[in-house]
Amino acid sequence: MAAIATLGSHCALQVLKGARDEGLRSVLVCERSRESLYRRFAFIDEVIAVDSFTEIAGDGAAASALESSGAVLVPHGTLVAQMSHADVEAIRAPVFGNRHILRWESDRDMKERLMREAGLPTPRAVDGPGEISGMTIAKRQGAAGGKGYFVSSSSEEYEKKRARLIADGVISGDERLYLQEYIPGVLAYLQYFYSPLTGTLEFFGVDSRHESDIDGLARIPADSQAPSMAPSFNVIANSAMVLRESLLPRVYEMGESFVEASARLVKPGMNGPFCIEGVYDDEARFTAFEFSARIVAGTNIYMSGSPYTALIHDEPMSMGRRIAREVRLAEAESRLDDVTT
Ligand code: ATP
Repeated sequence: MAAIATLGSHCALQVLKGARDEGLRSVLVCERSRESLYRRFAFIDEVIAVDSFTEIAGDGAAASALESSGAVLVPHGTLVAQMSHADVEAIRAPVFGNRHILRWESDRDMKERLMREAGLPTPRAVDGPGEISGMTIAKRQGAAGGKGYFVSSSSEEYEKKRARLIADGVISGDERLYLQEYIPGVLAYLQYFYSPLTGTLEFFGVDSRHESDIDGLARIPADSQAPSMAPSFNVIANSAMVLRESLLPRVYEMGESFVEASARLVKPGMNGPFCIEGVYDDEARFTAFEFSARIVAGTNIYMSGSPYTALIHDEPMSMGRRIAREVRLAEAESRLDDVTT
């Protein structure tokens, strides 16, 4: 019987509960400092304690324990944020989905290339601070979760805010920031699952994010906002959304073209969960500023299913459970190689 493993953070509870719901064994790789949290949950069958998640790469005791558990490792945002591309490639356990595409998520240039290949409308990239002419967002490399990101409308404003973040120790002086046109509108994070077993795409749900302290800014009258204030986009929580039904054809179209583009650029393609992240403008047009090529934490809202999974599955279906089901079905058909890398 296959097992499911993941790192103790991000959406581990959802993923491991999903494994249990599908009758699979659940394995948690857990930093010692967090063991007491995860020991509260009876659906976690086995814990591999580590000091650092990077221990699952290579030949150490944790890597061997993971490999001998026979588990398929489900990657999530913490793995992307804390492990280098070389570390991810050095994991000996099978990784759910496509581990190679995680690199495309972490590298801004590769990310842009894949989004362009998928034909997704994206915000204009701004070449450098000298090119800032309208509202521009500065982002860090990788999945920084919006921490230390800031908006500016001129190179002077950019330099002032950057200097302040460096002084506050939020970003380092030699960090190369990525600049992009800021699009105002309604932010939406579109969650999908693509099954290579059946060749079908499921739209799983959509969430919005609560980001600090940019979200708090709307509660402060403009004349009380400090001119030098550089609000950040640090994700604190997610909440549920449903889209106007007329937007759904485009949602599926974007998901499908992303799956097709990934199959062309990063074999074996975008298998499993992913998310296209962007903004609906005043014409209800979607501009994508980002994708995540793995399960996103926004799926935690739908541990008992979403309004959209209720239309596809006749039982409560979380993304974690959907992953476990794919592993279970793949194992039954002797096709585990098709759903892992
Ligand atoms: P994560 O890994 O959590 O997805 P990230 O570090 O890759 O985060 P983004 O998702 O690209 O960062 O951006 C973080 C936040 O900044 C977004 O949730 C959104 O609020 C805001 N944001 C990013 N790009 C734009 C944009 N072009 N226009 C408007 N808002 C944006």
